[in-house]
Amino acid sequence: MSYIEFKGISKFYGENEVLKNMELSINKGELITLLGPSGCGKSTLLRCLSGLEEATKGTILLDGKDITHLEAAKRQMGMVFQKYSLFPNMTVKENIGFGLKVMKVDKKEIEEKTKKMIEIVGLEGKENQYPRQLSGGQQQRVALARAIITQPKVLLLDEPLSAIDALLRKKLQAQIRRIVKELGITTIFVTHDQDEAMVMSDRVYLFNNGKIEQFGTPVEMYTHPKTYFAARFMGNYNIVEGQDFNKLTNNNFKSKFIAIRPEVIEISTEKPSNEERQVVTFKTKVTDSISHGNVLRYTLEADNGMKLKGEVLFRSFRLYDIGQELYVTIEKKNCLEIDE
Ligand code: ADP
Ligand code: MG
Repeated sequence: MSYIEFKGISKFYGENEVLKNMELSINKGELITLLGPSGCGKSTLLRCLSGLEEATKGTILLDGKDITHLEAAKRQMGMVFQKYSLFPNMTVKENIGFGLKVMKVDKKEIEEKTKKMIEIVGLEGKENQYPRQLSGGQQQRVALARAIITQPKVLLLDEPLSAIDALLRKKLQAQIRRIVKELGITTIFVTHDQDEAMVMSDRVYLFNNGKIEQFGTPVEMYTHPKTYFAARFMGNYNIVEGQDFNKLTNNNFKSKFIAIRPEVIEISTEKPSNEERQVVTFKTKVTDSISHGNVLRYTLEADNGMKLKGEVLFRSFRLYDIGQELYVTIEKKNCLEIDE
């Protein structure tokens, strides 16, 4: 059985159903991301798990025990939020040791565990500083240390990096993942950023308006979105009408939409022979070209007006001109059939 199970969880605020019959199973030691746009219910689900909110319907099991109505203090969960919620009048050391002090652990043990925690999160030398003397990233590492020092059963991280700038954020993503994996802590991480979800997680649950749209490993989610929403949210997919695509390429895909990732589009000036390959090929014209770092993105327009974004690495391709005629080739297995 899974370590955490949400069974048929619904949450109403008045008439407003913000969680709709949710089912999630999380294994011990797993790092799960709840991903989705703002307002889709991620924080509410986390709050139901931590006991800050109560589910209207359904059951939550932790290690086989029903905790749906257990008071928050007894759930043994560690939490970190977007806003740094450190105690401003306590030093780094005091902040981190706080949970143990509340548990009346003896001073020497608090001292030892705090020291070790400071090493784990890489804050040596900052022990006696106050939160206001730290950067945002350092404050979040204190918050993380404070949350995990008591060895919680589950660690809940609600958009902890949203207020931190891009470069440092990437570093902290890797750091947090390394720390919770090394310590084997079951972790639920919330974000609205699909890149962050890809980097951080063992598995992703994609939320859409109070429902789970799809779940899976980052690679599964990225390469096989099953719905229009998932394709839009997980990658930079081209999504075209199935019927238009069939007419253009003389195929009979059955779904309403076809989703195609920009990097699977092959571009050539000559019509390729493709004898041994299962592909679709058609003629296009370049209507736009933009460089994104090491990638060139072309907009390619077919005779029927269908537009596709195609991406190639700078190094491997010659540059094409706006207005130039090009053949687009896509392997059939990369034309994903998706529904609404
Ligand atoms: P997310 O974390 O995905 O951005 P939330 O879980 O915070 O989304 O919110 C989901 C929905 O529930 C939103 O429409 C929000 O306005 C609503 N909501 C959240 N908390 C409350 C509350 N205490 N009272 C009423 N509505 C709420
Ligand atoms: Mg939220």
